[in-house]
Amino acid sequence: MTYLTIPICGKDILSCKEQIASAAKAGAEMLELRTDYLISADVNKLKEILFAAKHTGLPVIVTCRDAEQGGQNKLHANLRKQILIEGVKLGADLIDCEFANFVRDNFGKDIEKVLDEHPKTKLILSEHNFKEPFEDLAEIYEEMYSVRPDAIAKVAYHANHINDCFAGFDILREYGDKAVAICMGQAGIISRIMAKKLGAFLTFASNDESQKTAPGQISIDKMKKLYRIDSMNSDTQFFGVIADPVGHSISPAVHNACFAAKKLNCVYLPLLVTGGKNEFDEFLNNVTKRKWLGFKGFSVTIPHKVNALEYANEKGEYIDPVAVNIGAVNTLAIGINERITGCNTDYAGAMDALTEAMGISKKQLKGKKAACLGAGGVARAIVAGLADVGAIVTIYNRTMEKAEGLAKDFKCHFGELEKIKDLDADIIVNCTSIGMHPNVDESPLPGKFIKPSHVIFDTVYNPMETQLLQDAKKAGAKTVSGAEMFICQAVEQFKIFTQGDCPMDVMRKAVLEALASS
Ligand code: NAP
Repeated sequence: MTYLTIPICGKDILSCKEQIASAAKAGAEMLELRTDYLISADVNKLKEILFAAKHTGLPVIVTCRDAEQGGQNKLHANLRKQILIEGVKLGADLIDCEFANFVRDNFGKDIEKVLDEHPKTKLILSEHNFKEPFEDLAEIYEEMYSVRPDAIAKVAYHANHINDCFAGFDILREYGDKAVAICMGQAGIISRIMAKKLGAFLTFASNDESQKTAPGQISIDKMKKLYRIDSMNSDTQFFGVIADPVGHSISPAVHNACFAAKKLNCVYLPLLVTGGKNEFDEFLNNVTKRKWLGFKGFSVTIPHKVNALEYANEKGEYIDPVAVNIGAVNTLAIGINERITGCNTDYAGAMDALTEAMGISKKQLKGKKAACLGAGGVARAIVAGLADVGAIVTIYNRTMEKAEGLAKDFKCHFGELEKIKDLDADIIVNCTSIGMHPNVDESPLPGKFIKPSHVIFDTVYNPMETQLLQDAKKAGAKTVSGAEMFICQAVEQFKIFTQGDCPMDVMRKAVLEALASS
């Protein structure tokens, strides 16, 4: 069992008791009393909060962290040792002692003595680095076990990059519930969730945002509702969105809602992959050489869609011809026919959203005049889709060379963005980021140029109803929203990931709810 543990970090007894009550109510499986957070911590205060914690029936860890390893209030070593010893005597299930202190004679020996007298209390030996990963992680665990073989060895380090998490995963693979390996910071978030699959002794979550005791800690609510940690086990398969930034992506909410609805043992993670091609390649190499992690697929977005295509190309994996044509991959499936499969669902998503709104088939787009504003990643997918079905496409872009290059690739026309007021088109698609949050009052096409006969498609989905779409509605034009496109492409992705159906209603509801609250 991997205990979902909530640190109790109140400054006084009352707030500790409140935190204990809310942790128990929220479904914590273990409590860690961070006594170093108490103002004027002493044995009497420990007694009171330990009693309240034990009253919940949950296992309790007593910790009095050294300031050198992230502790609060710079407590003297003697006081910290006294609190740990008293914790053992008062019946704590575990105490957490920094390894560096434990190996100091006048510290560790006294703790060992009281532990020997109270064999029910277990020892966690811990080591922290809030700045960077440890150079040789395996060596630290080996040292800890050699000093105290029955200890649970816990190491927490700052991950500078998501690739720093894999050393911790290797440790958990080797030692399972005798170990805890936590990567702190945004890049390390997945280590807190995946710990459950890998059978770590515990993982931490906070009561809420204000009660985090380490960078990157996730709230218990998110752990349970978004990542469904309670039902996670060694068979869980992982998916995720590779992006930078990734914090505001709605994809985890959307795909996890669909996995839950279909009762699939799958969890979708936010994967912050900073850097360029090298870091992206390293991440995928890390994942693919550790099949036991259970990663089965990825959504890929800014800035890695071309990196994904190149990765699959260089490894000789299968890339859907549509994605080759577009020059970008937004979906990677791992393990279909023992291979990596690269696809682009923006293409199908955009075409589905457009034809559904127009009430026509894809074939009926043939001969329609389409103006595409923008020449970036999304424009490539949409231009490819429209050109494939025989629409007459003109690309308008701020940077003319890009418009020209895209037009050449797909045998289309091109023009300057300023010329759009003179455009002659049935369908106008905004593929620029103009109108996206926070610049919600901006629009790539002034309302006075929109006619009732136009179909206006805005790929921007944040906000859901952009200025362009509002103007189009006022002008009596047909509209297609970026949210519709997002839903359609996510449906395609879900089908590729699961090789099965997508619960459409759940997907739609999850996207609209996530966008409304983003
Ligand atoms: P991208 O590759 O960075 O391309 C951005 C495009 O917007 C370029 O053509 C750029 O012109 C243009 N642009 C940006 N700011 C501009 C400005 N102030 N004035 C004029 N042109 C400007 O981005 P992308 O991946 O194609 O994404 C574009 C939009 O599509 C984003 O808003 C994104 O949210 C949306 N999107 C929607 C979905 C969906 O499912 N609905 C999926 C993916 C993306 P230059 O070439 O001159 O720089």
